[in-house]
Amino acid sequence: MTLHLRGVLLPEGEQRDLWVVNGRIRTTPVPNAETVFDGGFLLPGLVDAHCHVGLGASGAVSIDEAARQAEADRDAGALLLRDCGSPIDTRPLQERSDLPRIVRAGRHLSRPKRYIRELGLELDDPALLPDAVAEQAANSDGWVKIVGDWIDRSVGDLAPLWPDDVLVTAIDAAHRAGARVTAHVFGENALPGLINAGIDCIEHGTGLTDDTIAEMARRGTALVPTLINTDNFPDIADGADRYPTYAKHMRSLYARSKETVAAAVEAGVPVYAGTDAGGGITHGRIVDEIAALAAAGLGAERALGAASWAARQWLGWSGVNDGAPADLIGYRADPRSDLDALRTPSRIVLRGVVLA
Ligand SMILES: [Zn+2]
Repeated sequence: MTLHLRGVLLPEGEQRDLWVVNGRIRTTPVPNAETVFDGGFLLPGLVDAHCHVGLGASGAVSIDEAARQAEADRDAGALLLRDCGSPIDTRPLQERSDLPRIVRAGRHLSRPKRYIRELGLELDDPALLPDAVAEQAANSDGWVKIVGDWIDRSVGDLAPLWPDDVLVTAIDAAHRAGARVTAHVFGENALPGLINAGIDCIEHGTGLTDDTIAEMARRGTALVPTLINTDNFPDIADGADRYPTYAKHMRSLYARSKETVAAAVEAGVPVYAGTDAGGGITHGRIVDEIAALAAAGLGAERALGAASWAARQWLGWSGVNDGAPADLIGYRADPRSDLDALRTPSRIVLRGVVLA
């Protein structure tokens, strides 16, 4: 069936007519199209650039539960997910045309006792990282996720997991395989080694300083702050009585987390929206993250881009142009003037099919 949609297309802000044929957008009229949206605002489908399909509050979930997680993300408008590491193989979900597109990063790469138990692959020897990265690159959708820092209980504080020279070799191995690399990082100390090794993205990034922000801006390294998840830092600190230095560190990272994001934006670091759904965060909260980014200093329009057109381009998915995959979302009210408009999508088109 041929579809027709009419509305103010963001980010350009002009009234546009779009047609959808065989899952693709057409910008010139197609006869006998059924109008499925007329009057309102059209956006390229939203993006959750950091979530975990297949991960629940108590670890790995069944593939059926993972599908329900993806449905929750989709119903919130997120039609493209970058899965930042999953304990289960979610490839079967990529065969379901009603679920969001999923860009998989494979398994988290960590070390024993240096991440959430049984979530990632734990490498006994850090020197094994380059081979492990190459293996994940071969089995993912162009991204590899490594755990950059975590509490080191022998130190009682956050500490890097990998030596700098190993990171250089590992990230180089990913790049040679055509994959990008991202890392979970809370603290300050792991950041220079990762950024200088040419990592493509930093997750959370609460420990960014003026120096590491400047280097990310210079290199174009992306940042996905996951603000609705870093809001849990005070709870993490409260639960870490035995490690007072770590608890204090987490509280101080949290206290400046919004300013850190604002400084990164100000410096020109590309920032994208990710909820970190899958552990402590439930799926389907992309709008909360957009609102948090807007409040942290992006403003509404840039926060929208960070969860839509800009994020799609960054992940290699085109926006709204002739021949592009037809992943569109329509709202009655203008989300630029009130982000709450995003909470009630009035039309969702995914792969050229009307879902809602
Ligand atoms: Zn995560």
